[in-house]
Amino acid sequence: MSAPTSPGFGATMPVPKVEPLTEPFWAAAREGRLVIQRCADCGTFRHLPHALCARCQSAAHDWVESSGRGRVFTYTVVTHPVHAAAVDAVPYTVVVVELDDCGGVMVPGNLVGDPAVAARVDLPVEVVFDPVTDEVWVPRFRAAG
Ligand SMILES: [Zn+2]
Repeated sequence: MSAPTSPGFGATMPVPKVEPLTEPFWAAAREGRLVIQRCADCGTFRHLPHALCARCQSAAHDWVESSGRGRVFTYTVVTHPVHAAAVDAVPYTVVVVELDDCGGVMVPGNLVGDPAVAARVDLPVEVVFDPVTDEVWVPRFRAAG
């Protein structure tokens, strides 16, 4: 039996909307790959995806595949459900992960997997994908083995 990839949110949990700007991100996720947007002019990585680079305002960008490995930069344990779909999921852990590659870009997600592993700053993690719909596989993180 494999470790869970979902915090156990209910079926009414809102699902991220796939838009033209983010479609490459979601297409890669459906293949179990984490890709990060990078400015094609100055090389600055950014996440969440944006139309323009915050550093040089260029609209040119490409997508770089990440190893999906990184370390927890910060986290919180949610004990009070702020959405009806989270009532049965609390407590769950929200993490912000600084990826080992991709220029130190940070990716928000949930810590999933072995419930005995508590979040902590600098915890090594790796990405896993939670197929919440056929179209949207949400990246989450588990402790790296
Ligand atoms: Zn740029």
